[in-house]
Amino acid sequence: MKSFIPYASDSDFSIYNIPFGVAYIEDEYPACVTRIGDTVIDLSYLFDEGYFDEFELEENVFEALVLNPFIELGKKITVPMREKIQQLLLEGSALENDSETRENAFFAIENVEMLLPVHVPNYTDFYSSVEHATNVGKMFRDPENALLPNWKHLPVGYHGRASSIVVSGTALRRPNGQTQPQANQPPVFGESKRLDFELEMAFITSTYTNLGESISTEDAENHIFGMLIFNDWSARDIQKWEYVPLGPFLAKNFGSSVSPWIVTLEALEPFRVAGPVQEPEVLDYLKYEGDKNFDINLQVGISPQNQAESIICNSNFKYMYWNMSQQLAHHTINGCNIEVGDMYASGTISGKDENSYGSMLELSWSGKNPLKLQNGEERTFIEDYDTVSMYAWCEKDGKRIGFGKVETQILPAK
Ligand code: MN
Repeated sequence: MKSFIPYASDSDFSIYNIPFGVAYIEDEYPACVTRIGDTVIDLSYLFDEGYFDEFELEENVFEALVLNPFIELGKKITVPMREKIQQLLLEGSALENDSETRENAFFAIENVEMLLPVHVPNYTDFYSSVEHATNVGKMFRDPENALLPNWKHLPVGYHGRASSIVVSGTALRRPNGQTQPQANQPPVFGESKRLDFELEMAFITSTYTNLGESISTEDAENHIFGMLIFNDWSARDIQKWEYVPLGPFLAKNFGSSVSPWIVTLEALEPFRVAGPVQEPEVLDYLKYEGDKNFDINLQVGISPQNQAESIICNSNFKYMYWNMSQQLAHHTINGCNIEVGDMYASGTISGKDENSYGSMLELSWSGKNPLKLQNGEERTFIEDYDTVSMYAWCEKDGKRIGFGKVETQILPAK
């Protein structure tokens, strides 16, 4: 496939991608958009010009502040619409010859501001990387029995906070809270001294189900619209004091950052791979057939203020022990209903190698082994004015698609 819009060979936004996002265009109006190379395309304008007439939609679903109305149309519409957009961007298409539409609907990426792409009714965070769970278990519990007895029988997760999910480019403040600096001493109040990121991916659901219904592993992908990069910011010192017995609370709910482009499952299709062998065998409702993991390269970089970026982690989404279909089947096996726009984050994605660990907690081994940055500084956790960036992309047979990045600067505590 060749587009009439030129782009670099290493662009995440090739003709094979066609992701969806929401942009504020030239400081004037919001619209649902796609992107190819560094060109952002206003889908709302294309809709008004009749390019999607064959779908016989009553309303312009792209004239919205979020993608929820579009996603809610369901895959029977959204999948062929994405294919239609892809065709319109090919050489020789009707759009190539429609210079008026191109003038009004095509924008350079520098001239738009990307917004949070969906309204998120619910957010769940899983804990599905065996390497991450093992590392954390070794540090905080028993090195001999790092995994808790349930870990290989069910995808562990907790319900997170949807209101504080922000889009890439939104700065976050270091949180204040309670910590217990000395064991067996009273807690103190103050700013977190162990602020951390968690390298994760999240999937977004495309349907509403009824309370009482369950989704099977076989059907699960029919309910998943696409994915984005997810940084689950974590204050380790607050977490350590608060998390027993009910799990993460204020250590996590001060902010989570996501990349602005949703890459569809259809775009990810060529990058399917087999997941790890699950031993012991899982219960029937968690069994699945086919390749349900995806080969997505992941990277994390730290840039101290006005300094070059140091890449500190190279991981891959394919390392996940529990796949998205199992996560969704487990989440709904008790009858929990899902909603359009829900975000389900993977949990920190660590690999086997020390440079593939997806958090500072693991990379610095709880602060014991500081990381050296390019400028000579050291880091055990994230410092004020540091910018943390996460990247995700797939590459195979000369084709590349990617997610762009999620980038967040940390400001001092209030
Ligand atoms: Mn997490």
